[in-house]
Amino acid sequence: METKIDINEVVKNLEKKDYTVHYFETHEEAAEYIAGRIDGKKVGFGDSKTLLGMGMVEKLKENPANEVHHPDYPPEGMGFNDEARVCLTAEVFLSSVNAMTKDGTLVNIDSTGNRVAGTLFGPSKVFFIAGINKICDNLDEAIERARHHAAPINAKRHGYSTPCAKTEKCYDCNSPDRICNALVVHYKKMKYTDAEVVLIGEELGF
Ligand code: SF4
Repeated sequence: METKIDINEVVKNLEKKDYTVHYFETHEEAAEYIAGRIDGKKVGFGDSKTLLGMGMVEKLKENPANEVHHPDYPPEGMGFNDEARVCLTAEVFLSSVNAMTKDGTLVNIDSTGNRVAGTLFGPSKVFFIAGINKICDNLDEAIERARHHAAPINAKRHGYSTPCAKTEKCYDCNSPDRICNALVVHYKKMKYTDAEVVLIGEELGF
């Protein structure tokens, strides 16, 4: 559903949920801001088309004081799961969201759990990064977006053998490649994690 977005209201609602919030018109500005906030840190990524599209891995690696880990780029001899586990021991964790509501609730769906795990506990600082296309009117729409829009497109992107990868529709499948094994709703900032939401006035990710 087409929804009119008052970005100032979304920012205020996220702040009420104890997030630090910044809004940028472009992903380039957002990437500069995030890179400026991370210096001399061990950084972990969740799998995210938004963050890859922003060139965030390369950007953070430009600072030699950072140690950057992304499960899609494991060091030689390691696989996705090995590097995903390393990401969970990072000081700073970066993740996008599959959907969020105007009142500041964040929704993520996951297959292996590495992405949602990093946003829940472990890293002491979490950045959630989202384009305005992720903002929905309410939680029902956000979950619908995550399950029936983002998940099928992600399955297709990964080349998985799921029915949705062919039709971009969800069949609540039982495939070994199923990417919808957990759905996490962040009603509010997690208690002991310093979390920041970076909103971007562009359509980013799925
Ligand atoms: S449950 Fe299966 S069919 Fe539905 S979106 Fe997830 S992976 Fe695709």
